[in-house]
Order: sequence, then structure tokens, then C-alpha cells
Amino acid sequence: MTLADNIRTIEARLPEATKLIAVTKTKPVALLQEAYEAGCRRFGENKVQEMVEKQPQLPADLEWHLIGHLQTNKVKYIAAFVSLIHSVDSLKLLQEINKQAAKHARVIDCLLQIHIAQEETKFGFDEAEAESLLQSPELETLANVRIVGLMGMATNTDDEAQVRREFQSLKQLFDRLSLVQRPNVRFQELSMGMSSDYLIAIAEGSTMVRVGSAIFGSRN
Ligand SMILES: *Cc1c(COP(=O)(O)O)cnc(C)c1O
Repeated sequence: MTLADNIRTIEARLPEATKLIAVTKTKPVALLQEAYEAGCRRFGENKVQEMVEKQPQLPADLEWHLIGHLQTNKVKYIAAFVSLIHSVDSLKLLQEINKQAAKHARVIDCLLQIHIAQEETKFGFDEAEAESLLQSPELETLANVRIVGLMGMATNTDDEAQVRREFQSLKQLFDRLSLVQRPNVRFQELSMGMSSDYLIAIAEGSTMVRVGSAIFGSRN
């Protein structure tokens, strides 16, 4: 199987409205170029420095998605070009994204990362925290960010029923928070599913899957 075969296989399994984010972390630019030629237009990186190094070396019609934990002091490096930040996990980070987006006269789309896994180490809001952020008066002042949905990572387990339950709970939260009416909140994306669980995620309503190793092979 070539990289292009892998991409075609995955694309064929996705519902039409579901977007593939090719997760390119740790992979060399030549492989990203190959994925681009195979039709990928959305790349996901989890480290700011790596994204900043790769972005100028690839075609300008690519979307760059930041999928990993983002430190506030690094937002400035990606604010000019990032398409979607999947990993917003604090109001402080959202405020910094807003500030840096304003400098570039942009509105940056963001997802709130929700902690759905049993593992303790994953970043993200719990349900009540996400809801209170969406209701907070502070949000009114952040004209240069738009919250367009949620992101979550299921527990890393072979127990498919558990993964499914976690995705279902995220979808339920997504549906509930979709009703929130604020000027810069417009829910349309639910980012869930990786190489091992994207088929479960799309069955449970994912609109964006973040797939790395199933395209590029395993990482060291
Ligand atoms: C690495 C990563 C992925 C992709 O993982 P694969 O198992 O290689 O598909 C998806 N989402 C996030 C947040 C990641 O860090």
C-alpha cells in the first residue's frame, strides 16, 4: 500500500461531509508533499515549532490544523496562517489567540478540547467548564476568535464499547452546546477519531477525523 492508497482507503470510508485531517507530526516535508499530491489539503501538527518550519515549504492552499496542547507564548508564531486550533483548553489561551489574531486582522476558528478519556493526562475542559466558558460574558470581547465546535480523544483501549460511549457523550455535549447563541459561537465541527478509532467516531457523528499512522505508518 502506498501513501496515496492509504489516503484513498480512508477517504472512501468517510461520509461526504466528514473532513480528513492528515496528521503529519514527526514526518518529513517530502512525505507531506506526497500526501498533498495525493489530494490532502488539511494537515494536523501537534507542535508549533514543527508546523512553523514545515508551513512555508508546502503549497499555500493547505490548511494547517493545530491539534496538540498549545502554550500561550507560542500562539504568535502560528496566528498568521493557522486554519483551526483544535486544542483550546483555557479561557486564557482563547484570549491570547484573540489578541494575536487581531494583530493579523483575522478571525481564528477554534474548537474546545473536551476531556472524555479515562486517562488523567489528557488536556481539556470537562462538560461544565466548557459550558461556562461558552456562557461567560468575557467571550463577548473576543471578536477575533470563533468557537466552531469541540474536539476530544477517546481512551487508548481495545475496548470498543468504551470508545463508543466516550464519543457518544462528546456528541451529546456537542448537540447541547450547539444551541448556545453567542456572536462568536457557531458549532459546526466535531473533531473526533484517530487511526485506531475513526470508524467508530464517524458512526457517532464526527465531522473531522485526525489520522496519522494509518496514512504515514507508525511513528517512533
Ligand atoms: C498524533 C495525534 C493524532 C493521530 O494519531 P494516529 O493514531 O497516528 O492516527 C490525532 N490527534 C491528536 C491530538 C494527535 O496528537
